[in-house]
Amino acid sequence: MSSNELLPVDDHALMPITRRPPLIMERGAGSWLYDDQGRSYLDLIQGWAVNCLGHAPAAIRDAIADQAGRLLNASPAFHTSPHLTLASRLAAACGLDHVFFANSGAEANEGAIKLARKWGSVHREGAFRIVTLQHSFHGRTLATMSASGKAGWDQLFAPALPGFTKVPANDLPAIRIELERGDVVAVMLEPIQGEAGVIPIQAEVLRGVRALTRDARALMILDEIQTGVGRTGLFTAAEHASVRPDIMTLGKGLGGGVPIAALVAARTVSCFAPGEQGGTFNGNPLVCAAANAVLTCVLAPGFLARVQQAGQRLRQGLERLARTHRLGEVRGQGLLLAVETGALDAVALVEDARGQGLLINAPRPHVLRLMPALTISDDEIDLALARLDAVIVRAAAGADG
Ligand SMILES: *Cc1c(COP(=O)(O)O)cnc(C)c1O
Repeated sequence: MSSNELLPVDDHALMPITRRPPLIMERGAGSWLYDDQGRSYLDLIQGWAVNCLGHAPAAIRDAIADQAGRLLNASPAFHTSPHLTLASRLAAACGLDHVFFANSGAEANEGAIKLARKWGSVHREGAFRIVTLQHSFHGRTLATMSASGKAGWDQLFAPALPGFTKVPANDLPAIRIELERGDVVAVMLEPIQGEAGVIPIQAEVLRGVRALTRDARALMILDEIQTGVGRTGLFTAAEHASVRPDIMTLGKGLGGGVPIAALVAARTVSCFAPGEQGGTFNGNPLVCAAANAVLTCVLAPGFLARVQQAGQRLRQGLERLARTHRLGEVRGQGLLLAVETGALDAVALVEDARGQGLLINAPRPHVLRLMPALTISDDEIDLALARLDAVIVRAAAGADG
């Protein structure tokens, strides 16, 4: 008998790339997700910060329905109005000039690495080395895995792509030493390291990287795939530090639930020649229409101020829980937050929380991460905190008893 027969879900035809609970999710509305048994879940994962407007938002539904009835795909060889509109709005929102659309964050970062290498071949006598941070996460293609600083990934699918050097997070002197070697074309980093457990890079460090790369004639690449599109309370996390990188990547929240990502660059750096970069689905009108709907909502007056307010409320609640239950640090910005769980096993907390109708995530064994819809209400925040409190009380009692 296969283990699948014990489950109410038959997944034998799927590659077992992750452990999934035996549930089938059927529909969603705002901050709520519902399974096929009618159970409801208050969702503070939202597809890993993807559904920035929550589940099934009317704005995206209408934009997709309208575009689907008009034009699904013309091919990247033609202009369409959704990709033209989105590119100019996105470039302006990022304070940069040129956009290349991709289908996933990894593909956008792969493009950023290619663009930096191209720029190095044209402007830096072939320099190609890129400095990245330990514990960083940039995606799951071979190049982006090689760029990532996740433990063990240098051995997985060996040989890794050469040309990446990892330094500790928030260690500006280490970056300076690498840049002084003269062969570094770019420094690539996340403003907040999401998968590492929501580790913020200090504003002074981001500004320091900007100054050092400028002096060394190297590029600064910011991976804002998790932090961008309003997640931290400003359109990009770079704005908190008043930093303008040469290259920025966006993904996750950009499509509000549909797969679209973007490589955004300053005009001076944008040096792909025709034929050097592309992809069948890139800039597809359907996904660009969805992303345009996301931008209309996120850039509307008052939206980001509300994200900041909601972030404050959630953060204060987490700090209260941390004090009451002697947990650890609360970190993050806006609605990308994490709390250290101290002695409590975060993975066990996630599983118990799901049973209690609360979806949260554990990026590390003792860290809980929360990345709710940017549209979450105060009542939903309070309910999530109450459910989390109950889960922690039960776990702590179990640990004592
Ligand atoms: C999720 C993520 C990626 C990878 O995006 P995919 O769409 O999964 O390829 C890259 N960088 C960061 C910071 C991310 O959070």
